[in-house]
Amino acid sequence: MIPYARQWIDEDDIAAVVDVLRSDWLTTGPKVEEFEGALAQVAETRHAVTFSSGTAALHGMMHALEIGPGDEVLVPAMTFAASANCIVYQGGRPIFVDVEPETLLLDVADAARKITPRTRAILAVDYAGQPCDYDPLSALAHRHNLALLADACHSLGGSYRSRPVGSLALMSAFSFHPVKHVAAGEGGAVTTNDAELAERLRRFRNHGIATDHRERERRGSWHYEMIQLGFNYRLSDLHCALGISQLAKLRPGLERRREIAARYDESFKASSEIHPLSVRPDLEHAYHLYVARVANREAVYNSLRASGIGVNVHYLPVHLHPFYQARFGTGKGLCPVAEAAAEEVLSLPLYPKMSDQVVAQVVDAVTIAPERCGAPHFSSFARKVANGPRLSSPSM
Ligand SMILES: *Cc1c(COP(=O)(O)O)cnc(C)c1O
Repeated sequence: MIPYARQWIDEDDIAAVVDVLRSDWLTTGPKVEEFEGALAQVAETRHAVTFSSGTAALHGMMHALEIGPGDEVLVPAMTFAASANCIVYQGGRPIFVDVEPETLLLDVADAARKITPRTRAILAVDYAGQPCDYDPLSALAHRHNLALLADACHSLGGSYRSRPVGSLALMSAFSFHPVKHVAAGEGGAVTTNDAELAERLRRFRNHGIATDHRERERRGSWHYEMIQLGFNYRLSDLHCALGISQLAKLRPGLERRREIAARYDESFKASSEIHPLSVRPDLEHAYHLYVARVANREAVYNSLRASGIGVNVHYLPVHLHPFYQARFGTGKGLCPVAEAAAEEVLSLPLYPKMSDQVVAQVVDAVTIAPERCGAPHFSSFARKVANGPRLSSPSM
């Protein structure tokens, strides 16, 4: 099976982890600071705080903002459940916002409509690796005194109007899960320019204790105080060493992802059954995923899987998960654009080590699949999108 995503691990990555195994520090040692420094450099922010996962990083952001019962946070429906779960961890209420049909990114106008006196923050999600439209989002957040946050788990290395992802919101969360750009096994981080928030994030990941073990070692003091309730959300030196080594491959990995995406765009340009998402012209897409809308998606998905092409679907809209329906009374009709898209999206295989030959094999299989699955039957909504004008040439 050709996977939809796959990590890129070389001998130097392996050596970096083995070096840590031979060192004095397996966790919260020098590699944590080094990885955080390297991440802050990529994001062009003053601070980066690592966490044990992207989900823990998202939780950290909600805690740092002191989201609590009675607070509402706007989040797009078309995302991984963790984007909304982090709000619920804090006792807050996620308010699901619809997405734009051509990009599946948060619809700023719908976000504006859903602001209430209880709204505290907007969590934008850079779906598939395309940065959201941050300038109008920042303006909206500013107007209503809301915090603008980013779930940038798909978009490390991307940029918006020449500003790097990680610097586009008050705080931005990243994931180092193996399918993401930097694979550390597990791991996450938050980038920010705000020193006070960075301090809160650091305490939160370490039980709410004011100093970490290494700091106390340096001072030669055993004394510590827990000043708030926190978790053990630390990322180990083993993971950070792998992350540092992986970060060196970020640029070549992104270049290869963009090359493959351009090949896909070109190949499906003439197709009436396969519609790649649009890309706005003022940004650099990080292509965590290559998503196209296809007619007759379930049949196409099954047919491609049966022929060894590991396509995937991202995502079932979060408000349709049974947990959200039961807890918050959400359901069909809340975000119609996301719901229609969810019936048609297909993520094609995309990873840096994918060869040209495998790309060609996927193109061939995907091109003939809708035909093999019978007449295309797009929803009326999708037909409108398919016939409508493109925002820009999707290849960049
Ligand atoms: C991967 C991902 C997460 C969670 O990251 P983990 O490291 O797996 O916890 C959160 N949000 C989005 C959009 C993701 O893709």
